[in-house]
Amino acid sequence: MLSHKLQDALNEQINSEFYSAHLYLSMAAYCDTLSLGGFSHWLKLQYSEELSHALKLFDFITDRGGRVVLQSIDQPPIEFESVIAVMQMALEHERKVTAMIDSLYELALDERDYSAHVLLEWFVDEQVEEEKSVAEVISHLEMVGEDGTGLLILDSRLGARSSE
Ligand code: MG
Repeated sequence: MLSHKLQDALNEQINSEFYSAHLYLSMAAYCDTLSLGGFSHWLKLQYSEELSHALKLFDFITDRGGRVVLQSIDQPPIEFESVIAVMQMALEHERKVTAMIDSLYELALDERDYSAHVLLEWFVDEQVEEEKSVAEVISHLEMVGEDGTGLLILDSRLGARSSE
């Protein structure tokens, strides 16, 4: 049985994953206004991933006989300064999520909840990937700079992303 403390923390994390999904979808909408369909596609895949993270936690709570408590989701930013500002905000956000996952992992250890520990190991690895993929897009954007042609090439590369 899940401890109340861990159940509450996992429910908080579900809310945070839904917020991440909201944030990426809002970023995708902004990229669509710039006619950057590839960036938008990439961000929509991020959105889907975040939903799957929320559901992974959801299933874990219910499988363990716990209770999922959904909360309202904060409104994400709507306006952004530029596509690079979008990706920098995404990286900053992912770093915050990493810190949250690390705290959850620590709590699972404190509570001696080994199955939560195993689940959270997956999330720890996932955060390494999340930060890496966003940082890669930022470094490509920095290489391209003000070059419109480079941006279009990058947009079409991101548009070709199939999953993850
Ligand atoms: Mg996530």
